Formats: sequence, C-alpha cells, structure tokens
Amino acid sequence: MSDQRLAPATLAAQGLGLVEPVTKGIVQPIHVSTTFERDADNEYSAGRCYSRADNPTFDQVEATLAALEQGTDALVFASGMAAATACFQALDPGDHVIAPTVMYWALRNWLMTFASRWGLQVSLVDTTNLDELRAAIRPGTTKLIWLETPANPLWHVTDIAAAADIAHYAGAKLVVDSTVAATVFTQPLTLGADLVMHAATKYLNGHSDLVAGVLIAGPTLCAAGHLLSVDRTPTSGQPARCADVGVRPTDLFARLASEPDGYWKRIRTIRSQIGGVLGSFEAWLLMRGLRTLHPRVCWAAASAQCLAAQLAEHPAIAEVLYPGLPCFAGHEVACRQMRGGFGAMLSIRVKGGELAAIATAAKVQLWKRATSLGGVESLLEHRASIEGPGSPCPPDLLRLSVGIEDGNDLFADLDQALRASAK
Ligand SMILES: *Cc1c(COP(=O)(O)O)cnc(C)c1O
Repeated sequence: MSDQRLAPATLAAQGLGLVEPVTKGIVQPIHVSTTFERDADNEYSAGRCYSRADNPTFDQVEATLAALEQGTDALVFASGMAAATACFQALDPGDHVIAPTVMYWALRNWLMTFASRWGLQVSLVDTTNLDELRAAIRPGTTKLIWLETPANPLWHVTDIAAAADIAHYAGAKLVVDSTVAATVFTQPLTLGADLVMHAATKYLNGHSDLVAGVLIAGPTLCAAGHLLSVDRTPTSGQPARCADVGVRPTDLFARLASEPDGYWKRIRTIRSQIGGVLGSFEAWLLMRGLRTLHPRVCWAAASAQCLAAQLAEHPAIAEVLYPGLPCFAGHEVACRQMRGGFGAMLSIRVKGGELAAIATAAKVQLWKRATSLGGVESLLEHRASIEGPGSPCPPDLLRLSVGIEDGNDLFADLDQALRASAK
C-alpha cells in the first residue's frame, strides 16, 4: 500500500506500517551492534559498517519523520543542538547567516560565540519583518537563513514561504526550526524551506525522557530519497530481512549524485565524523514516542487554545502571547501556514511585573517549574531567569508548555497562583 495517501497520524501510529520480517513483530528491534561484518569479497552487502555512521535502529524513525514532513531524507542526532549546529558547521568560514533575534536561546548563544569565532558572520534580525530580512542579505555571501516559527519564547511567527523566496533569490538556503509546530501544524518543506530541524527531545518524543534532534531534507537538498516504504522489496529477490530496511550503498551513491551542492552530504558527514549520533535505545524510544504524536499534540494544542483565551481575560495578566489568539501580531500568518492548531506553547506577561511572575511560578502546584517543553506534563518557566543578560525576553514573562492533563485542572492551578501573587 502506498504511504502517500495515508494521513500523517496513520503513518506515525504505525511507524509506516513496518513489520519486522523475521518474527513478524509489529515493533522493530533495537540494534545494539556497533560494527557489522564484512563479506569475504570485502563488501558490506548489508550496507552497514560502523554505527557512528548510521544504525539500523534509526531507519524507521528517520523514514517516519521524513514522511511526516514530506521530506526526502532525514537524520537523527544526539540532540536538537547537535542537529542545529550541523547546519552551520556545514558552511564555510566567511559565509554569512541570518537568524532571528527571538529564537531558542542556547542556539542564539552558540551562533554569537562559537560560530562567530569559527568565522561565520551572523546577523540577528526580526525575521517577522520581511523588509528587515531582505535588507540583511549580503549578496553572494549570505548562505543560510535560519528561522524558528513559532519562536521561543514570544512565539513570533515568520512567513516561511516569503522567507524562502528571499533566501532562494539570494542563493541561500532556508532552514526552519519547527520544534513547536511538531510536524503536525506546519510542514515547512511544503512552503519552500530546504531543511527542517526539530528538537526531538520535545514533542516528537513527548515524554521528557530522552534528548534527540532531527534534520529533514526537502527535494531541493536531496532529490532521490531512499526512504523506506511499506512495500519496499529487497533488490536481491531474497525475503526481506532487517538489514534490508534502510540505506544500501547503491542507494547512498544514487542519492549523493543527485545532490545539487553537497550541503546535505556535508551534514551527513558531520554527523558521522563529529559523532553527535543518537544511541540505539534513544532512537527506539523516539519511535515509540512518535507513534502517539498526533493525539498528544492535538490534545495539548486544543487545551492551549482554551487556556490562552481564558488567561487573556484574567485580571492578573497583562498579555497572553499565543499564535492562536486573533489579537496576536502573528495570527494572520499563523492562519496561513499552521493547520489543525497553533501549537501548545504560550507565554503570559504578569501584570504585577517580574516579582509577581516569579511568585506565580513559586505558587503553582500542578504545573512543574522546569525548563524544556513538549512533554505530556505541563511545565512553566520564568524564562528571563534562564536566558540571562541580553535576552529579548521580558522579565514579567512566564513560558507555559501545555501538556495533556485536564484543561480545567491546569487553569485552576494557574488561577490560584496568579491570584495569590497579585495580592
Ligand atoms: C529544545 C530546543 C532546541 C534544542 O534541542 P536539544 O535537544 O535540547 O539540544 C532547539 N530549538 C528549540 C525550539 C528547542 O525548544
């Protein structure tokens, strides 16, 4: 059965419908072997050599993620940061990159310190302002535009299709950190992005129990996808075995030859040479989490939409930042490029200022005071405390990651904390 006609929730729930051919297990095994035997004729007929390059446990999760983003190839990494930094490490010293002023704080920090010292020229601009984005282009030198949408922690929404036009006109690539859209609400590759990044630590795994990242390439980077399909038949004519699932050397060469500029190939090389590679058990856990992605994330987003509306009316709150609110600056663009919901991340600005915000965080009982996002449990964080000096985050802001608990329980807990700290 072709996987093209199936809905994303179906593809995720069944992990592309894969059945392990030897035992007929409907869950794939964890491959722990770090090394693979060479044939007597010196070939690797199973297509594997050493698991710092790739591991059979990655195949199903990479193929599923590529399918969910409508990409042609995917690579899992040891963390979201390992995936994100590989996109910049694949550039040359002297290249210019543009990134948003409001973005995931640790990556912004890395760009301004490490990447700059290694010779990348970095401009931070308000990417929601397309004139500002266009003006930041340095013709011939700008090689990459990085977007994050919706962006931490103010949930700025950038027009991906317009940014793709600007990037491509300048001969640059567009990469989108789509962690918050979680593959479910936006598919950046279909809007013209070249590459999508996710901190899989967050929604894709969804249970706050592993650190992982993923990059998904679109057809502009990798035309001939090797992706695992449900009815893939082994080229040998032999019954399919576990080893038949994934990249064979011939597939790899076909794919690399089809790459226009080798950018994706360099990223793959960075993963295997620098070694930011995911462990087998983590890759398996990620696939397990991914199977429930749609119900988790759609439930949480519906709850976030209700909470945002309730909190917008709250006497102790000055402002709610959430792309799903009609009064939010990015709402119109969000309506164009998000479908089925606006995500489950929002921020509130507490009327009483910084101390009242910190006091509110201190008084919640159900919400957990913790960094990170995208798990089934709701988290709340005074973001300015973790970002420190230079952060664009207002000091009266609390960031909320809405989980899958009952929405009334979540509201009641916030309400009592807000009221108690407004006194
Ligand atoms: C968490 C996060 C990252 C970094 O991912 P790690 O897995 O923690 O390295 C990058 N971007 C966004 C939007 C994130 O939320």
